[in-house]
Amino acid sequence: MLQQTVVATVIPYFLDFTRRWPTVNALAAAPLDDVLAAWAGLGYYARARNLHKTAVIVAKEWGGEFYHSDDGTPLCDNDCDRHLRALPGIGPYTAGAIAAIALGKQAVVVDGNIERLFSRYFGIETPLPAAKTEIMVAYQSLLPVGRPSDFPQALMDFSNAVCTPKRPGCGECCLAASCIAMAKGVVEKLPTKPPKLEKPLRRALVFVAMNHRGEFFLHRRPEKGLLGGMFGFPEIGLSVKVIDFSLNSKMAPFFAEWELLDEPVVHAFTHFTLEANIYLAHIDGRPDAISVRGQWLKPRPSDLPSLMRKILMATGFERSREN
Ligand code: SF4
Repeated sequence: MLQQTVVATVIPYFLDFTRRWPTVNALAAAPLDDVLAAWAGLGYYARARNLHKTAVIVAKEWGGEFYHSDDGTPLCDNDCDRHLRALPGIGPYTAGAIAAIALGKQAVVVDGNIERLFSRYFGIETPLPAAKTEIMVAYQSLLPVGRPSDFPQALMDFSNAVCTPKRPGCGECCLAASCIAMAKGVVEKLPTKPPKLEKPLRRALVFVAMNHRGEFFLHRRPEKGLLGGMFGFPEIGLSVKVIDFSLNSKMAPFFAEWELLDEPVVHAFTHFTLEANIYLAHIDGRPDAISVRGQWLKPRPSDLPSLMRKILMATGFERSREN
């Protein structure tokens, strides 16, 4: 949940998740739709799908435990990391964190905080992400035999409290005497980040149809790709980068009196900004020649991902419910 997401946003989701599904077996038994609905608004929906897939594998193939190999024998340190990385959505950092923090194995765990601390302490000036290898080698050189679970957590806390991104507490730091960045006077310059690229702007057309029962035409988005597996309004341009916008409402999923809203909805994704032009239609009866498989639903805003929720609000849905 914390990948690309700040702690304050995650806390209510984490509490809700662990209340609903307190064990990996409980999560594995939950329908994917329920998991995706509980994730709605947190973004990066591939994480929810991977979490569920992983729970199913651990529950069904690993006997509900993370720390035994397929034949039921306990894992050794090297195997543990490799074994965990085979699970959907678990990369080197998460595998290392589970191995060290949850299972007490010796493992390299490098998050953004540890990256900063090691770049400075060892004076690593190579720009990220190329510096990651040097940081991992430096981490290996310090890996203690005892308390493998405490070590990465102590490093994270230390860098969070002392070796902070801005104005680090070098004056009170117990590592100052041997810190290379401190000796060279380059503390604030490290870690070296690659130059920031401006976010590209992408345009999309979104078609919001409402019927006489107050239901909206929604479809389940493809499993792979942006907002994968979530409910959404039919759209063109969100997943495909270049489209011919001159066709406009002719690209709608079915014929109707489509009306373009004056203001587009602007939404920031991590890698691009989306400008969504909204077409709205009120439908009586069942439209013909529907080109997208979907269903008529009365969604609660909380069932939709943030972009679709914003679009729903832009159509005046919330106001029409209040009146
Ligand atoms: S001396 Fe400053 S830069 Fe070096 S480890 Fe301590 S807080 Fe970080």
